[in-house]
Amino acid sequence: MLEIVALGGLGEFGMNMLALTWSDTTVVVDAGVMFPDPELLGVDRIIPDLSYLQKRRAAALVLTHGHEDHIGAVPHVLSLVDGPVYGTPLTLAMVEPKLEEHGIDGRELIAVKPRDRVTVGPFEIEFIRVTHSVPDCVALAIHTPAGIVVHTGDFKIDQTPLDGEHFDVHRFAQLGSEGVLALFADSTNIDRRGVTGSEREVIDAFEEVFTSAPGKLIVAAFASRGNSTARSRSSDAAWCAIPRLPSASGTSASRQGCRFAIRRSATIRRRTFCACRPAHKANRCPRCRASRLTITVT
Ligand SMILES: [Zn+2]
Repeated sequence: MLEIVALGGLGEFGMNMLALTWSDTTVVVDAGVMFPDPELLGVDRIIPDLSYLQKRRAAALVLTHGHEDHIGAVPHVLSLVDGPVYGTPLTLAMVEPKLEEHGIDGRELIAVKPRDRVTVGPFEIEFIRVTHSVPDCVALAIHTPAGIVVHTGDFKIDQTPLDGEHFDVHRFAQLGSEGVLALFADSTNIDRRGVTGSEREVIDAFEEVFTSAPGKLIVAAFASRGNSTARSRSSDAAWCAIPRLPSASGTSASRQGCRFAIRRSATIRRRTFCACRPAHKANRCPRCRASRLTITVT
């Protein structure tokens, strides 16, 4: 019998965590935190109730994306997971500092890419590209002995994603044709009609604000808005105005050479992308005189 239990994230904002069990194998999808309301003074984070896992433990932890409400509880859950942690390179890169912070090492973190499949006991877990407000997100098609369970993770269908990684509608259509036992689909505002704009739409607003600022700019951002944060950093005007911009996601910025590195052990990709007009791209930023605008993820 297939048993699916939401350990958090249903009817609440945060603590996303789902357990799937067949026979004696349990797989957990995501392990997020909830941020407390102001009246919970002294409480930094709230994690899901883990008593279900204390009874049966998990064979693997599978992560859909790097938002805190999906990975924030990973360090607290790992002691109840006997197998590896699967996630995309960026998601794992966001998990690694959390493990370091909690003194956890030696855990097997396995990087996956869309269309990969991994087998965990009776489950075959397939990763499917989805777009969201942070890059490198995946949905899951979990092939179980009872049928296919589709877990979308968080998503926003962005038809012009900044990283060119498109929502894999074709695979979702194929799965629909094959037949899906259960669909778990939830994301912010999913119950509202209409369409959310592309992350790309913020570029013009950033450019306008940055180029018209008479002096120093202070940027406040919701840390997990990864696409927007990267875009604000890649603006040449932002570099001129903000020599150093720390980030909750562990990135660091240096104005020197108009270049910054997201300090990670795993190579994700190397790419030059900036919000400058084409004339700036290959040579020098005319505002700060630095050469090249490069984002290196190493
Ligand atoms: Zn999310």
